[in-house]
Amino acid sequence: MKKLVALVAALSTVMAFADTYPSKTISLIVPFAAGGPTDRVARDLAEALRKPLGGATIVVDNIVGAGSSIGASRVAKAAPDGYTLLLNHIAMATMPNLLRSMPFKVESDFEYLGMINEVPMTLIARPNMPAKNFKEFHAWLNANKGKINLGNAGIGSASHLCGLMFQNAVQIDMTAIPYKGTAPAMVDLMAGQIDLMCDQTTNTTAQIEAKKVIAYGVTTAKRLTVPALKDLPTLQEDGLKGFDVSIWHGLYAPKGTPADVVAKINSALKVALKDPDFIKKQEALGAVIITDKRVESAEHKKFVVAEIAKWGPVIAAAKEYID
Ligand code: ASP
Repeated sequence: MKKLVALVAALSTVMAFADTYPSKTISLIVPFAAGGPTDRVARDLAEALRKPLGGATIVVDNIVGAGSSIGASRVAKAAPDGYTLLLNHIAMATMPNLLRSMPFKVESDFEYLGMINEVPMTLIARPNMPAKNFKEFHAWLNANKGKINLGNAGIGSASHLCGLMFQNAVQIDMTAIPYKGTAPAMVDLMAGQIDLMCDQTTNTTAQIEAKKVIAYGVTTAKRLTVPALKDLPTLQEDGLKGFDVSIWHGLYAPKGTPADVVAKINSALKVALKDPDFIKKQEALGAVIITDKRVESAEHKKFVVAEIAKWGPVIAAAKEYID
């Protein structure tokens, strides 16, 4: 009888909790620098989530470093109450393949709240790079072996993965310069401090359009339809056989967050992904909003687990290039 009373009491606390959620500010942790591509997705999404979450205040917190593992770890260890969430990208699948000691377990330390979008990447170089097209750029790389600086957002980041794939494809070793996100890397690239970078179109479109960097290719199998990038060849057209990478973003909560709260956030996410303003902003930067079953928690998790397995061999093949 005592046990039953305790169970009923615990159950009603959980139900009351979900009924009133959210009743205080939600911290949305972005594990990369402010002003970068992951941050862009998070700030647009935070705005779109406000209404379906009953006018909640959602604050984006940039907890940066170590290719997103510091921010992700913070969320894995946070109180599972729905007030600390994580927005991260493909690093959720690359980190377990790259980090010698993972500070958390991607599969078991999170509740999966649904996927958000997919974003292509672009290969870009400093504005004074003496190469008009990929052929000339490739020749420049060959002529400058041992002196090439490649920016990235740390081990496991999207730019790191894409950089590894690129070095592997052209068989040229480059010096990786890690930043806390590609926003600060972009500043150095535009100033000519580093030579090249591979980064999401959500960070590069405006800079390419303004000719502040030179773009040599897009990382997806097909050309993009965004007006600013539609004339950019794919890296496959440039001769890099099979080169195909697109970055995805998902939303996470600490493991143990009450199921009703997870369901509430997931429903709000589905509404946000249909928000015309959110769609317009993201599509203008080359992002593709997820509309398939991966917006469901279980499918999101299934996809991430499959991606961990998918990137394992690719990363293993490029291991010689790991910092
Ligand atoms: N684009 C970065 C990356 O390479 C992350 C960021 O700064 O948002 O993963």
